[in-house]
Amino acid sequence: MSVTEITRPARGSNSATAQVALETAATTRLLESEGILDYSGHVSTRIPGRDAFVIQIGSTSRAEVSPDSMLVVDYDGKVLEGDGQPPSELPIHLEILRARPDVQSVLHSHMELAIAFTMMEGVKLLPMRARASRWKSGIPTDPDPSHIKLPEQGRALARTLGPHHAVLMRAHGLCLVAESVRALFVDAVHFKENATALMQALQAGAKPIPLSEAEIAQIEKMEMRDWHIKKLWNYYVRKALDEDALPQAWKDDLVPTKEMLKRDSVL
Ligand SMILES: [Zn+2]
Repeated sequence: MSVTEITRPARGSNSATAQVALETAATTRLLESEGILDYSGHVSTRIPGRDAFVIQIGSTSRAEVSPDSMLVVDYDGKVLEGDGQPPSELPIHLEILRARPDVQSVLHSHMELAIAFTMMEGVKLLPMRARASRWKSGIPTDPDPSHIKLPEQGRALARTLGPHHAVLMRAHGLCLVAESVRALFVDAVHFKENATALMQALQAGAKPIPLSEAEIAQIEKMEMRDWHIKKLWNYYVRKALDEDALPQAWKDDLVPTKEMLKRDSVL
């Protein structure tokens, strides 16, 4: 498949690469709009049925990424399709995707609030807000503050991440992992909200009260993750279309139908 052929996703046979490229491009623009990505950072997503994933060309502006600027890369880091070079920190994605078969999509961001929690003695980023129950197993910090350009650095980062859904990177940034690129976007929004809530508590001079195990258990009883992801994806995609942060031509392939947004029940 040529780059031209992946610019417009065709519903039907062999459309997996095109749809993944479109959703990953859209997610990158949404994350940039929300201040989670800026001039750097990137998203990778596995292509179902192929031994490869998509990631953007490193030099393309995060505000202008399109399926055209997506590369198809194999798990040895070889570019199979697309015209450009992947980001220099490709080993982050390669090694996390290799180590975690359960993960479909990886975000690397230099989110300022996340970095702040790697630079304060005696302060840990903990689940404060309800949606942060996602990170109940812990948010470890990788000690390497440099750019992750070598396979051994990527492997060390993947080891620090372990079975968790988030890892901070000392004085550098964070990585999030999720079961889909849409879920990854929603997690990133909530990760930032949670870090903001904790920072506000600290700035107020108060002792933060993170969620207890019992509270997290109660939150999870009421959780409808799949529906919640659809709801937030629908909100942010529509908002970005209205504000021309996403091209109108992408609308039909991104906006969930009314049928898709129907809940079967409230639990
Ligand atoms: Zn980085």
